[in-house]
Amino acid sequence: MKEIEEILYSEEVVMQKCRELGERITADYEGELLVVGILKGAVPFMAELIKRIDLPIIIDFMDVSSYEGTTTSGEVRILKDLEFRVEGRDVLIVEDIIDTGLTLSYLTEVLKKRGAKSIEICSLLTKPKRRKVFVDTKYVGFEVDDKFVVGYGMDYNEKYRNLPFVGILSEEVYK
Ligand code: 5GP
Ligand code: MG
Ligand code: MG
Repeated sequence: MKEIEEILYSEEVVMQKCRELGERITADYEGELLVVGILKGAVPFMAELIKRIDLPIIIDFMDVSSYEGTTTSGEVRILKDLEFRVEGRDVLIVEDIIDTGLTLSYLTEVLKKRGAKSIEICSLLTKPKRRKVFVDTKYVGFEVDDKFVVGYGMDYNEKYRNLPFVGILSEEVYK
């Protein structure tokens, strides 16, 4: 595909990583786990990951929009909230990629206030160099440099989410 400059992680590599993460998560918990996917980017990763978690799990979804306007604090708005109550539950947030960290630091605060027993994050990708706020990410698939990636759920203007790999989008597409 000419819009993709380079394939970073093939489907096989992502699937192998999901197996590893699933085994770690399975070993780390006992009993029921509430797995929360952040729409829409986390969907393909989460679909693969949950098949590798050998625990009684419940899945739920949240949709958020983030604004990085004039303030550096960032503002996050909940567009779709959870169906389940998180009070007293072990919660695992599943995300596609962590960039500034603003979305997840906000969300973990929200879920903490709602009384979750524990909150951990599992992200397919992270861009550590771009971080503005610290987020404690226990489960991470891969670290990427500051390049715009698409595929495996991640979009550019809502496109490319269906690519079965993670790749770098050619600059020509957004120039
Ligand atoms: P942040 O961590 O800055 O609050 O936001 C992370 C969100 O920004 C991700 O969930 C994703 O939707 C979007 N994002 C950050 N970096 C990239 C990227 O390289 N490619 C794509 N497609 N989305 C990104
Ligand atoms: Mg996302
Ligand atoms: Mg997006």
